Amino acid sequence: MNVASILSTKGHDVITEKSTTLLSDICTTLAEHKIGAIVIADDAGHIEGIISERDIVKAIGTSGPTALEKPVSEVMTKSVVTCTDADSVNAVMAKMSAGRFRHVPVTDDGKVTGVISIGDVVKFKIAQAEMEAEQMRSYISMT
Ligand code: AMP
Repeated sequence: MNVASILSTKGHDVITEKSTTLLSDICTTLAEHKIGAIVIADDAGHIEGIISERDIVKAIGTSGPTALEKPVSEVMTKSVVTCTDADSVNAVMAKMSAGRFRHVPVTDDGKVTGVISIGDVVKFKIAQAEMEAEQMRSYISMT
């Protein structure tokens, strides 16, 4: 099973912001959409960074509340690990585990087309386990 199968259920909606957006406005967007991270992209949709709630907590913890007046470019992670539609779900899990992050943007031709979160992966894995258990039950009942 691959990333495309998660996106076919979840959809390709991606919330992006510009690198000049203030951290306070990033917080508003995170809260409005009930998400934990936002991809920072240029006008053409090319990824410039990613900002997660952890980065914001760290910035406030280090600089105090004035950190919220900074542009996101000063706080975001600039080296972003991505995946493609064709990557397996297990490969994305391995990327999250190795990099210790919970969000992986999906790209096509350098542009962001979706985001996979650890919650999406867990939901997918539970559905897969339930389907396999059901298949096993029906196989046993036929034999
Ligand atoms: P998260 O677990 O997603 O809240 O992110 C934890 C840290 O990893 C934060 O510093 C994020 O900016 C960073 N991060 C999140 N996703 C990625 C990613 N796909 N590639 C690189 N860094 C990331």
